[in-house]
Amino acid sequence: MQIRYSRQRELIREILMSTKSHPTAEWIYEKAREQDPTLSLGTVYRNLKFLCEQGEAIALETADKCIHFDGNINNHRHFICNECGRVYDLSESEVEKPCELTNAGFTVERESCVYYGVCAKCNQN
Ligand SMILES: [Zn+2]
Ligand SMILES: [Zn+2]
Repeated sequence: MQIRYSRQRELIREILMSTKSHPTAEWIYEKAREQDPTLSLGTVYRNLKFLCEQGEAIALETADKCIHFDGNINNHRHFICNECGRVYDLSESEVEKPCELTNAGFTVERESCVYYGVCAKCNQN
């Protein structure tokens, strides 16, 4: 049971890492079931939550409360379109840490910056 559980987690992790499209749990579930038809959506949710807790994945919420997952945990910023819900990656360049934190002795371990607005595609319509 334990072995099976971690193999499913590995499968979910591989699928998440193989895409840059910031998929939803449902999308990962569809992909994963092609390889393991016994997988349940609940297992996918549980494993995605676990990966986020372990710092191996990031969860992003769109304006309509849809959760997207990102297997790229390098510091990078996101833009989320309020019209189409698409998640865009911004540059992974090192982002300057706010000096009010570093000066006060805080250690920043992870940063998550999300811009919300209307993407270029939606602006053309
Ligand atoms: Zn858009
Ligand atoms: Zn991303």
